[in-house]
Amino acid sequence: MDSSADEFPRCAKCNKELGGGRLPPMHSFSVLRCPSCNALLALIFGCCIELNEKTLSNPSIEIKAQYLYQVLTDHFARLSEAIAQEVAETWEEVVEANKTKEKKPNGLKKLQQNIEKMDIDSFNSYLESLDPPDL
Ligand SMILES: [Zn+2]
Repeated sequence: MDSSADEFPRCAKCNKELGGGRLPPMHSFSVLRCPSCNALLALIFGCCIELNEKTLSNPSIEIKAQYLYQVLTDHFARLSEAIAQEVAETWEEVVEANKTKEKKPNGLKKLQQNIEKMDIDSFNSYLESLDPPDL
């Protein structure tokens, strides 16, 4: 599923690399046979799914088309579930981060935090900026 750009998809049945030279472009949908185990496979955007050979050998074009449509929509449903899950987790993280932000430090605490971040030299110039000496 998570194949990097220089890695070829693997057979959904035997897990052997499908090989690059004869493969269709990654952004396409195609049906092919595994050169190793002869399984009938669908390549969808680089993801490999084993197809039901019995259904695809049915003489009815309608049944075959319906089956392939189902394979595609199932795949995209799984993809969008995964994406939705990721978005939900990110959203939870954002909500959590905002919860901790709600406990904002009061003025003094904030000043202390600011001072802690500074080294001594910048702390002195910080003090000067607060109360500029009379010249
Ligand atoms: Zn195979």
